[in-house]
Amino acid sequence: MKNITDKLNRPIKDLRISVMDTCNYRCPYCMPEDKFDENYQFLKPQERLSFDEIYRIVKVFAGFGVNKIRLTGGEPLLRKNLPELITKLKSINGIKDIALTTNGQLLQKQLPQLIDAGLDRVNISLDTIDKDLYYQMSGNKGHLKVVLAAIESARKSSLKSVKLNCVVQIGVNDDQILSLLKKYQDTDVVVRFIEFMDVGNKNGWQKDSVLHFKEILQHIEKEWKVNAIDPNYKGEVAARYKYQDHCGEIGFITSISKPFCRDCSRARLSADGKLYTCLFASEAFDLRKHLRNEDDIFLKQYIQNVWQNREDRYSEVRHQLKGRKDKIEMYVIGG
Ligand code: SF4
Repeated sequence: MKNITDKLNRPIKDLRISVMDTCNYRCPYCMPEDKFDENYQFLKPQERLSFDEIYRIVKVFAGFGVNKIRLTGGEPLLRKNLPELITKLKSINGIKDIALTTNGQLLQKQLPQLIDAGLDRVNISLDTIDKDLYYQMSGNKGHLKVVLAAIESARKSSLKSVKLNCVVQIGVNDDQILSLLKKYQDTDVVVRFIEFMDVGNKNGWQKDSVLHFKEILQHIEKEWKVNAIDPNYKGEVAARYKYQDHCGEIGFITSISKPFCRDCSRARLSADGKLYTCLFASEAFDLRKHLRNEDDIFLKQYIQNVWQNREDRYSEVRHQLKGRKDKIEMYVIGG
C-alpha cells in the first residue's frame, strides 16, 4: 500500500460511491420534482459502472490507503443485486468498513441480505417524525411508518452503527429537532443534524434558511444538557455530543458555520464513473473512459495524479466564490 496525500497534505481514506443516480423520492433540497420530472434523462444502465468496474476502481483506491467505502445514490437500494457488490468490495485487501446512506424506504426488506454480504453501518435520512411533513419533504413519495420500522430492524441487527441524517431548514423542519431527539434518546441510534448546504445549483439554497449548529445546540440545551466528545477518528465529518443525563449521541455536520475541510480525506465517485474530489466540485475526472480503454496501471497513475493535485476546501472559501453556478448536484454523488 502506498499512502498518497493532496496539496493540503490530506491522505485519502474514504471513498463514497454513488451506485444509482435515480431515486424513489423527490426531496426539494436534492431532487426537486419540477426539475426532475418524468421527462428527466437519468443514466441508461450501460452508462452506469458495472460491479466489476467498481471493484477495479476500489482495488486501486485501497492501494492508496482507502479503507472505508460508503454506498450512496440517488437511492442506492434501487440498484439491483447490491449485496453482490458489497461481497465483492469486502473481499478487497484493506477495505475494512462498508456503509450505506439510504432514505430507508426499501431498507427493511433488503437488510438481511445486505448484512450477510458484509454491510457494517447504515445512515438513514430522517428530517422529521411528523408523518405529513415527512411525506411532503420526500416530494410526496415516502411513508414515515415504513422508514421507522426499517430503523427499528437496523437497530436490532448486527450492524455496527445506525445513524439518522436530518437536514435542518429554517421554516421547514427547524421545529422538529426536539421530537426527533426524544424518539431516539436512550438508544444507540445517533441523530445527526446537518446544516443545510449549497450543494449543486437546483436546491434553492438561501443563507437565511440555514440554522447554524450553535443555534441548534442552544435549542437542544433548553431541554437537555449535552457535552462535546472526541471524534472517533481524524477527519470524522460530524462533531459528536453526548447527553449528560441520558444515553445517546448527537452529531452535527457544520459545513456552513464551522467548515471541516482541513482533514477532509473523502473522494466521491458518480454512478457513471466520474471522480469528484469535493462535495461542491465543479470539475470531474472521467475514470470510466480509462477503465474501458486502459489497464489498471494507467488507472492507478491517473487517480494518484488527481489526488496529489487536489486542493479543494470549498466550505472554507465559499464566501469568496459567490454564485459559482457549475457545482455538481447532490444526487449525482450522494453527499
Ligand atoms: S467542502 Fe469539500 S473539501 Fe471541504 S470538507 Fe466538504 S468535501 Fe471536503
